[in-house]
Amino acid sequence: MRPGEQNMTFDRAMDLSRDESAELFGRHVNRPLARLLKLANAGMRFSRAEGISLYDEKGRPYMDLTAGYGALNLGHNPKEVIRAVNEAQRLPAVLLVGHNPLMGALGKMLASILPGDLSVAIFGCGGAEAVENAMKTARASTGRKKFVSCRGGYHGLSFGALSVCGSERFRMTVAPLLEHCELVAFGDLKALEQKLQGKEVAAFIVEPVQGEGGAVVPPEGYLKGAADLCRKFGTLLIFDEIQTGFGRTGKMFAMEHDEVVPDIVTLSKSLGSGVIPVSASVTSEKIWMKAFGSRDRFDLTISTFAGNPAACAAALKTIEIMQRDDIPERARTLGDYAREKLENLKTKHELIREIRGKGLLLGIELETGGLFSGMMEHNLSIMVMGELLHKHNILTSYYDFDPKVLRFEPPLIVTTGQIDEAVEALDKVLSRGKQAIALSFGKMAIGSMLHH
Ligand code: PLP
Repeated sequence: MRPGEQNMTFDRAMDLSRDESAELFGRHVNRPLARLLKLANAGMRFSRAEGISLYDEKGRPYMDLTAGYGALNLGHNPKEVIRAVNEAQRLPAVLLVGHNPLMGALGKMLASILPGDLSVAIFGCGGAEAVENAMKTARASTGRKKFVSCRGGYHGLSFGALSVCGSERFRMTVAPLLEHCELVAFGDLKALEQKLQGKEVAAFIVEPVQGEGGAVVPPEGYLKGAADLCRKFGTLLIFDEIQTGFGRTGKMFAMEHDEVVPDIVTLSKSLGSGVIPVSASVTSEKIWMKAFGSRDRFDLTISTFAGNPAACAAALKTIEIMQRDDIPERARTLGDYAREKLENLKTKHELIREIRGKGLLLGIELETGGLFSGMMEHNLSIMVMGELLHKHNILTSYYDFDPKVLRFEPPLIVTTGQIDEAVEALDKVLSRGKQAIALSFGKMAIGSMLHH
């Protein structure tokens, strides 16, 4: 500790002001992100969150249109899930010799809501870990080396997941990654066939609707065509439903729209309602047994905290609520409602190029170019975000691999009234035009520099 510095404790951490918290985050966690948040004046210090709302230090509510990028389908801090987690915390939190009763129960619950014979789970704590487990399963069960994935696809930031990442920028920074990984265009079955026909590919991993790629829905028949090609050439099909799962696109899982069953599915994010991190890679008994079903292999699926009782409790209760309240159907009808409103907005504003996505995984592609071409291209979203946050108390963001696409991804418990409010706010912001938005963003950024 430096001389004069106060000791950090949990109580003090809970009481840090916005400025103190930004300072510590920049110094000890991520300097460039802290700077970016400061520039956009978006480094809010929220002190409470419930349902669709975040509350700042003064108790002002903000509507959250980001929902933890799909992790908060039931909203922030759902009370029933928190209660279930508290109850499960009577059990041994970590038990590596033996099995806690909730782990098998969650496996059974997942098997009952997933289509086909997807019935054996490898648990983990985050999305990338589920992707690693899926990739390991594919290699171990097929004995093949190669992976194929899509440009614009996002599967997380661990080494395996980055090796199948559809963004050059993300891959290059930590290269060399896994060998034998190749990319194809999302939606292009011909290109996929070319990659698979040598019968050397262990798995093709794909999101049924691309999330971070910018809420991109593939052409009609693509998922079915990809499944047929995989079957023909002995390649396993992995659907990454980490962002699309648990009601987000208007069905419990996005693959259900096309009635296609993969060999492996990866799940995380809303599986634990954001209350406890939890993930799963789920496959058929046949594939799991082929990959890990012997005394010298079974322990390749084990991790200290995977399937801990608190995580399983969060997942079991989340699924129970999703089914009881038919949350996927709610996402479907509200998604249609929001989409129609946004399409209407598009007819009014040249600044909107396209409305994309499915259910409540929606994207608003902004028209860049002119003032916003080149260096400024990515900044239009940041400017609109700033206006929505500071003038209308709405938190949104852009999709990571296509920053000109604004996120419209609220918790699925959003109401039509809240959708109206968000669309009206966007209408007001866009009505001010690019130049005015740029000007007020400039003022805001200068204000934020002076203030901090
Ligand atoms: N896969 C998809 C489709 C995702 O959207 C994400 C995260 O956004 C991941 C994987 C990685 O999940 P995590 O950030 O929990 O590692």
